[in-house]
Amino acid sequence: MPAITNKQQLLTQAQNALKKRFPLPALEPESPRPLLEELLFAICREGSTTADAEAAYGRLKKTFVDWNEIRVSTVQEVADALRPLPQAGPRAGWIIGVLHAVFELNYSYDLGDMEKKGLKQAAKQVSRYFNDSELKKLNLKQAAKQIGRFKQVNDFAVAWVVQRSLGGHAIPLDGPTIRVLQRLGVVEEVDLDDLESVRGGIEHMIPKVRGPEFTELVSIHAKELCTEKDPLCPKCPLLSDCPTGQELTAKKSDKDKPDGKPKKSR
Ligand code: SF4
Repeated sequence: MPAITNKQQLLTQAQNALKKRFPLPALEPESPRPLLEELLFAICREGSTTADAEAAYGRLKKTFVDWNEIRVSTVQEVADALRPLPQAGPRAGWIIGVLHAVFELNYSYDLGDMEKKGLKQAAKQVSRYFNDSELKKLNLKQAAKQIGRFKQVNDFAVAWVVQRSLGGHAIPLDGPTIRVLQRLGVVEEVDLDDLESVRGGIEHMIPKVRGPEFTELVSIHAKELCTEKDPLCPKCPLLSDCPTGQELTAKKSDKDKPDGKPKKSR
């Protein structure tokens, strides 16, 4: 399929160009996170970068004695520890909800046995924690409400855990990553309720071994250059391959011309 091959080449080139442009953060934390912690870290990481998520996650762990204290704290208290991470309130509600769900199921905060059960089984089990009906059953209406608002995060967190903890091939897609992929013309309309199929297409184009690096570089790019408002296209190493960037820069140079006429050289 030539279209896929072209997109695949585009993504390979884009990743190489971004690697030259941005310093790559460590792809693994200094000390490996147990599965539950990786899951909670994913909540901080969605829509952010690893550096910003690490900082928020560090504040969270420093502020509270343990996971149980976080579970019984208010959304406001947990959100205060996460700030200035954006959307700290919804993330706090989600973290508390996941801790409640895990505790109710295990009476502990250990998901370690999932790793032993194998990738498919583990991914299935992880998904359960993001299932609203499961949470409602546990009387976690507040958490379910928060989670319901951020359905796309569910798929991101599961994909993140599969990529980082379970040794599988998954490309977590969050808002900034989708924005870059759309601007590059790799994906078109995205149904946030069916993120899994979009993700499947992207995973087909990016080899597993390049997955974590791709995830990191695109997030940094989305924060530094391909911002939601006013992307810095003239400074972007992907401009020559980006239809959106070319359109935006052409429009801007037209706007800069007085009455549409080229500026006189001095
Ligand atoms: S050229 Fe502009 S729109 Fe395209 S990827 Fe770069 S910053 Fe984003």
